[in-house]
Amino acid sequence: MQMNRIGRIQYVEVVFPGSQCSTQGFTTRHEGVSRPPYNSLNLGMNTQDQQAAVEGNRSLLARAFGVNQESLVTPRQVHGSDILVINEPNEDFSHFLSVEGDAVITNQPNVMIGVCVADCAPILLCDPDKKIIAVVHAGWKGTADRLVLKAVAGMQSEFGSNPGQIQAAIGPCIKKCCYEVDEPVRHAFHKGGITWDLCAELTNPGKWQLDLAAANHELLMQAGLTSDSIQTSDQCVCCHSEQFFSYRRDKEESGRQMGFIMLKA
Ligand SMILES: [Zn+2]
Repeated sequence: MQMNRIGRIQYVEVVFPGSQCSTQGFTTRHEGVSRPPYNSLNLGMNTQDQQAAVEGNRSLLARAFGVNQESLVTPRQVHGSDILVINEPNEDFSHFLSVEGDAVITNQPNVMIGVCVADCAPILLCDPDKKIIAVVHAGWKGTADRLVLKAVAGMQSEFGSNPGQIQAAIGPCIKKCCYEVDEPVRHAFHKGGITWDLCAELTNPGKWQLDLAAANHELLMQAGLTSDSIQTSDQCVCCHSEQFFSYRRDKEESGRQMGFIMLKA
């Protein structure tokens, strides 16, 4: 993963080795039109930012990648485990903004699917063999609910993907350095079949520093991906206020960046 620029959009570009079928990455906060504290590429509809600014930013992102705003699909995220499947074309996907879901799978080209995040992990999946893509919003709840594993299973059941062929990228999110959690999270991860000792470090009695990306890496391995097909960003969004939004850092004044992926025509 490395920083790249397309049009005026500065983003963390992801290249899946040996795959030319999709374009994908993770946005930064740069070069949008939102004013402080949402400066400037705030892509989250559920913030106190001006709606027109967010729409302007969504349009900037879509157009930079050659599609119109109606082809940018982001569901209404609720920290749940519903997965939306798009298997036919549509000229206007904007109604998805009111459809609840925390992951999207599609086989449709020129449809940009995305999830908006501040601290949560955005995860991109691509099966270059069957040309199927997915995007997943994984906070601690979605992780405990094994959402990324369910998305892989969905690619398998809906479109015949082989998990061994799927490439994954876990984007910039809050890292261990800045993410203290307590017992309810440990309990939920245990229930979700995630090895707590691999992703959490005890710092104080009843307090752990959690590595969300490591937990999702384990889930991807459980889903049947190979470790060399999983890329993970090493950037902590909470440490890097110049690059990224972080809810834990900025609370209600935090904008949202986006993990996005699109199949080429
Ligand atoms: Zn940090």
